[in-house]
Order: sequence, then C-alpha cells, then structure tokens
Amino acid sequence: MTPTSHLIQPDALVLWRTLSDFARELGEAGLPVPCRRDPDPFVSEEDEERDAAAGYCLAACPLVQLCGAYADAQGETWGVYGGRDRTTQAQGRSSSRREQVAA
Ligand code: SF4
Repeated sequence: MTPTSHLIQPDALVLWRTLSDFARELGEAGLPVPCRRDPDPFVSEEDEERDAAAGYCLAACPLVQLCGAYADAQGETWGVYGGRDRTTQAQGRSSSRREQVAA
C-alpha cells in the first residue's frame, strides 16, 4: 500500500488519502492491515511471495475494495494492492516501491 510513484494521479488522490486514513485508524485500534504489519511480501521480487500477499489481502483486509479502486485509478504496475498482484513484466524488477516501503 505504497504508491509506486511520488506523483499520485488526481483521480487517485482522494482514494489514497481515504485508504491511508482508514489504515492508520485500524492500526491505532490495534488492527493493522496486513501490508502494514509486514510490507515485504507485498513488494517482493518473488512471484510466489506476492501471490501469498494477495491472499493476505483477501483473507484479512477490510480495505480490499478501496485499495483496489485506488490501484486502478493510479495505474499501479508494481506490487500487491486490493488482493491482486499489479506487477507487470515491464516493472517486475523495479526497486522503486521497495525503496519507498523501506523509507
Ligand atoms: S488490500 Fe492489501 S495492500 Fe491494500 S491495504 Fe489491504 S492489505 Fe494492504
């Protein structure tokens, strides 16, 4: 749940802010969403780990639809959002999202 670009598209910005607010509130309530508990699988370079992360979204995240809507609006092409691996072949080995998650 980290934008792959520092520039969030205008259509995606409200979705991103709403998603971030809900995720923060869940965390403050002691119910962190899976990608905040352990972000590594969501940005892994290993297909199998990203597949597992997508399963964590579907099994345990109440924000899955909102997150998917954000990723669609933003055109994310790297990592897992909303229960789906958005990684494309062209972006598959980019390290940009990993660097952002680590920041
Ligand atoms: S759907 Fe997945 S990537 Fe999106 S906020 Fe939930 S756990 Fe994170």
